[in-house]
Amino acid sequence: MKQFECGSLVPGCSWHTEAEESAEVVKRAAEHLRVAHGETVIRPEMVERIKERTHEAGDNRH
Ligand SMILES: [Zn+2]
Repeated sequence: MKQFECGSLVPGCSWHTEAEESAEVVKRAAEHLRVAHGETVIRPEMVERIKERTHEAGDNRH
């Protein structure tokens, strides 16, 4: 299970998501950034940032 917290990208945002596949997490996160943060275009570097911050659920080693 992969997990992403928006607060790691947008300080103060408490939105988070989790899914079996990291691709699904990225998809959901991109949708959230569009709807909640006005990112009309999700650039490749934004996708990279999401991927960098996507981690295994329950992994507290970071
Ligand atoms: Zn957010």
